[in-house]
Amino acid sequence: MTNTQRISTEVTNFLNQPKKLLINGEWMASQSNKNFGVENPANGDTLGQVAHGEAADIDKAVRAAREAFDHGPWTKMMVAERSKMIWKLADLMEQHAEQFAQLESLDNGKPLAVARAADVPLAVDIFRYMAGWSTKIHGETFPVSVPYTPDTRYLTYTLKEPVGVVGQIIPWNFPLLMAAWKLAPALASGCTVVLKPAEQTPLSALLLGELVLKAGFPKGVVNIVTGFGDAGAALVQHPMVDKVAFTGSTEVGRLILQGAASNLKKVSLELGGKSPNIVFADADLDAAIAGAASAIFFNHGQCCCAGSRLFVEHSVFDRVVDGVSKIAEAIQIGDGFDPGTQMGPLVSREQFDKVCGYIQSGVKDGAQLKAGGKALERPGYFVRPTVMTDTASHMKVIQEEIFGPVVAAMPFKNTDDVVKEANNTDYGLAAGIWTRDLSKAHAMSAKLRVGTTWVNCYNIFDAALPFGGYKQSGWGREMGKQAIDLYTETKSVCLPLS
Ligand code: NAP
Ligand code: MG
Repeated sequence: MTNTQRISTEVTNFLNQPKKLLINGEWMASQSNKNFGVENPANGDTLGQVAHGEAADIDKAVRAAREAFDHGPWTKMMVAERSKMIWKLADLMEQHAEQFAQLESLDNGKPLAVARAADVPLAVDIFRYMAGWSTKIHGETFPVSVPYTPDTRYLTYTLKEPVGVVGQIIPWNFPLLMAAWKLAPALASGCTVVLKPAEQTPLSALLLGELVLKAGFPKGVVNIVTGFGDAGAALVQHPMVDKVAFTGSTEVGRLILQGAASNLKKVSLELGGKSPNIVFADADLDAAIAGAASAIFFNHGQCCCAGSRLFVEHSVFDRVVDGVSKIAEAIQIGDGFDPGTQMGPLVSREQFDKVCGYIQSGVKDGAQLKAGGKALERPGYFVRPTVMTDTASHMKVIQEEIFGPVVAAMPFKNTDDVVKEANNTDYGLAAGIWTRDLSKAHAMSAKLRVGTTWVNCYNIFDAALPFGGYKQSGWGREMGKQAIDLYTETKSVCLPLS
């Protein structure tokens, strides 16, 4: 059965229409009238054409978002109405779940089953969770002791107000979910948004845009401009933008900070990682082996929190490495639409070349390959899941984010050594700890300089659980109540009581 036979009529129709920019509640061509092709990474086919937005389109979108924030009905709307609208969007997404899953698989390469089970329901969840926050964002009152006015008493309180116009720039690894992580809290807080999806995977955001209009959001509240890095840079530099929220590489994260300096807009960043996954000898080793494999191979290793450095207590090192290598060898690789596929292609030629380059660099530096290490001889960007040993902490494969299905396994002797090595990178996003000793698990969680530790599990995400990085893995926390803090300002109000 070919791919095309399995794509639903709705998705085929969606792909056949030219994809435009969503600006001020309308779909419009880019001002240059240019488009770019979107590629299926499983076979190199062009899935469709998308408008090529540039600085002029970003400017138009930002002005629409500014007008909607400053004068539109959105910020005056009752918060319960805002909440209902966000909930309605989640309902519409659920009704279009299969379309989203198919687009995600075609555009990104991930197995359709994974998009159905993870990406789409998690995206729906975050809209529902944040819809609930709309009605619960509130300030506080404070008793104050103003010393220079002994007879006057003050009423002092805070207001939580939306930060304003937000520019949101997202990557290609979880296209719909990243759009949801960004849009849902911004909308719940009352902001207006210009979203720039990744050039590799713009499709699901555009379907989401259609549903935003169906849900009844006022014009200019959500604007979507597809394009490349230059469009992202124009958004970051735009003087009418109050805040930028970015997910992507640490390298571009630095550029975002420079661009945002012009008007000192607020910035939140969710960047890369080189996450340690630590297996102690006293762990349930079968669970740890399966968990270590899924920590790195889920989403083809294209996760900012991928467990790419596997530290194993020396007495069980061979057993764990053999177990993970066996799983790696058995993973079925193929087109995301094939029901047997457990791992699809990497997202692009660029990513394929990058990951293959890292594997070669590891081998050149003296690493041994226990599994994988090769690309597949077929069209598309397929790389075999790879397990390396005999690495050293100075090697590029240990220090740099590979963002592919490549894990380096290293033995350790004691807790102090593994904490030191685990913390020995510029990153600090997440970590895994596998042990039956509760006290060790809590002590390790406290010692690791990371934003999330998973104990006897990995890659557990929930709309209520804050996620973000220490060190160069980012600024701020997405999801949970903390995500609302990213999109609100606190105003203090004082008035004397006569
Ligand atoms: P990236 O360059 O950081 O791209 C992320 C987003 O930023 C995309 O929407 C991108 O647009 C945009 N962008 C690029 N240059 C920009 C600029 N100067 N100003 C504003 N926005 C800009 O990531 P990538 O090139 O797709 O992947 C490179 C590496 O980043 C990966 O190999 C991986 O190591 C890391 N990465 C990390 C995450 C994460 O979740 N932490 C996600 C993806 C990638 P275009 O796509 O149109 O260029
Ligand atoms: Mg890039």
